[in-house]
Amino acid sequence: MTAHDPHSVGRNAKPFLHGPEYAAVTEALRIGQWGHNTATDAFETELADFLGVPDVVAVSSCTAALHLSLLLAGVGPGHEVIVPSQTFCATIQAILMSGAEPRFIDINADTLCVDSAAVLAAITPQTRAVMPVLYGGRPISLADIHATLDRRGIAVIEDAAHAFGSRLDSRKVGATGELTCFSFGPIKALTCGEGGALIPRTADEADRARTLRLLGVPQSQAARIRTTSYAVDTQGWRYHLSAVHAAIGRVQLARFATVETTRRNLWRTYVQQLAGIDRVALVDVDVERSVPFNCVVRIPVGRDRVFENLRDKGIGVGVHYPPNHLQPAFARWSRPLPVTETTARQVMSLPFHPDMTEDDVAHVVSMLARAVTSSRADGDR
Ligand SMILES: *Cc1c(COP(=O)(O)O)cnc(C)c1O
Repeated sequence: MTAHDPHSVGRNAKPFLHGPEYAAVTEALRIGQWGHNTATDAFETELADFLGVPDVVAVSSCTAALHLSLLLAGVGPGHEVIVPSQTFCATIQAILMSGAEPRFIDINADTLCVDSAAVLAAITPQTRAVMPVLYGGRPISLADIHATLDRRGIAVIEDAAHAFGSRLDSRKVGATGELTCFSFGPIKALTCGEGGALIPRTADEADRARTLRLLGVPQSQAARIRTTSYAVDTQGWRYHLSAVHAAIGRVQLARFATVETTRRNLWRTYVQQLAGIDRVALVDVDVERSVPFNCVVRIPVGRDRVFENLRDKGIGVGVHYPPNHLQPAFARWSRPLPVTETTARQVMSLPFHPDMTEDDVAHVVSMLARAVTSSRADGDR
């Protein structure tokens, strides 16, 4: 028996919150900084420093960031956006919000991300953007087809909800010149409670994003709302990040080095412990470059039985994600995607969060080994 914590192994994901955030929230409430405020501006500056980019626009969610990015890229009704089916449904909903249609493509079986060849093959005259998803924190890049995409007027909008802190060569994800969107939702590596950010490509895009996120009130005039007149000359959304959420994010960012190290070490512990387990294959991550978001294993035969067995034993397993091209809301755009469909039947996400100890991992892995053995005894081959 290992000294695991049942609460810890029972959670698939969990925010890293240990106290300083509570004080920051109390202080924000005490001084009356609740809505969009200077704390939001400070968080943006700190994020820009961390990522090595000129500017960051903080918003209320990654879904909002994806929606605004599509608008900045001029995507709207009559346009198509190339997107993997293997993602959280938020990516697809953001496309529908813009009025455009998703063009689902398959993923690479090793990375669970799109590759350039699949993107090129899916381009039609209606294509205006491609939304690669940096699944699991993998810093994938479409740099090799940039020139082609540019020539055809196709923007790259990265869904980097999983990839805050990951690096491509010496630059961080977000600093490679694309429109990039991050999530600071409750289960993401850096959390504001709820929140997100987009990395604009130009100063003009930054201004437009700031206007669109605050109901179309021009950024330069936003401060005057209470005192004088202001001009609203565009449709806008209520997508700003509240100062209370920004206060949480600022504390989290200041401690992010700890979170990064902890997630990398947790990943390495899983790699070691899973090495001896038959019929379970870890979907690999380059842990030097990535801040791992989750720990996905592939169980080629009998995944459902193993999943149920583990769930019944209190292990917080998950499946990320049910394919979107098979969701009822997106059925109009469905097409056969063999790798995505096989992957969805085989993968399972193990509990992965910074509060897990080595004993917690050992417990999860030993339960997994037993579940696989018993599923085989029950006839799965
Ligand atoms: C979490 C997530 C989102 C949405 O982020 P929110 O901040 O909750 O809107 C989008 N895409 C992926 C891949 C995600 O995991």
